[in-house]
Amino acid sequence: MTVKNCLACDRPIKGRIDKKFCDDSCRNNYNNRLNSYSIPLVRNINNILRRNRRILEDLLAPLERKVLVVERQKLAELGFQFQYFTEQYHPDKKEQYFYCYEYGYRSIDQEKVLAVKDTRKRHFIHKHNQVITKRGE
Ligand SMILES: [Zn+2]
Repeated sequence: MTVKNCLACDRPIKGRIDKKFCDDSCRNNYNNRLNSYSIPLVRNINNILRRNRRILEDLLAPLERKVLVVERQKLAELGFQFQYFTEQYHPDKKEQYFYCYEYGYRSIDQEKVLAVKDTRKRHFIHKHNQVITKRGE
């Protein structure tokens, strides 16, 4: 018997073998975004990013402080793909964070990373928009 993954969230599906989604909410999510994700490359990369995010979320969600030292090997075994991320963030020259949406990590050494939930202030995006607006004046 093969384990199938949900088309929406990419988690293994429990239950009947012919199911495509975990539940109705996953089915709705999938159908809502079907149009924009109809290009296979886009869909595949989106799936990787969502899986990366989900792996970090699963590790960090139970913790009160959303910070955890994790072995790279463990993340890889869970299906984490380090070369895919949505943002890079350099709070200073030494630290470099790689985010998948609001979850991310930074390198500690060759074996370990520090997984985190994004606690940055997000106003820099608005600041950037202001700059663009000003240019258009
Ligand atoms: Zn699902």
